[in-house]
Amino acid sequence: MVDNNHSNICKRCGGYCCKLGGTLATKSEVDRIIAAGYPNQFIEITENCYVTDFGKELVCPYLKDSTCEIYHIRPLLCQKYPIFSTDGEEHFLVHCPLTQHLSKDDLTQCIEAALEVPEEIFTSIQRFMAPFGSKIDGRMRKFRMEPIVLE
Ligand code: SF4
Ligand code: SF4
Repeated sequence: MVDNNHSNICKRCGGYCCKLGGTLATKSEVDRIIAAGYPNQFIEITENCYVTDFGKELVCPYLKDSTCEIYHIRPLLCQKYPIFSTDGEEHFLVHCPLTQHLSKDDLTQCIEAALEVPEEIFTSIQRFMAPFGSKIDGRMRKFRMEPIVLE
């Protein structure tokens, strides 16, 4: 589990990355969150692809008071941020307020998390997310992004 331990920076930022349409998770990740006693805030897309019910504001329902209430068991898709992937193939490093504080080891852990995200997560969700694409893209433009190659 990636633990960047920079919660004050993220709190001051207001959890911006959690307002980009929530997160995606596999069934085992959803089961882990529910088994830990948190409410099921996920919509099932396929057998192994779930999305948080982000509502009209596109905010993840696990974001409370600008903090992730499931941080210690958040899905891989959240663990890999500030690496953002448009699909299973294109990846970007997002220069949000946290990025400059990350060590090389921190970034390596994010990359490792990114490489573990099953590709079906991205392929299954595309049609569901399409109507929200332009709003999410607009929010993404708040921070500079640079393409990176994961190895
Ligand atoms: S990871 Fe970056 S965008 Fe997300 S809350 Fe922290 S500082 Fe903000
Ligand atoms: S699960 Fe937590 S880290 Fe992931 S989008 Fe939701 S609030 Fe943010």
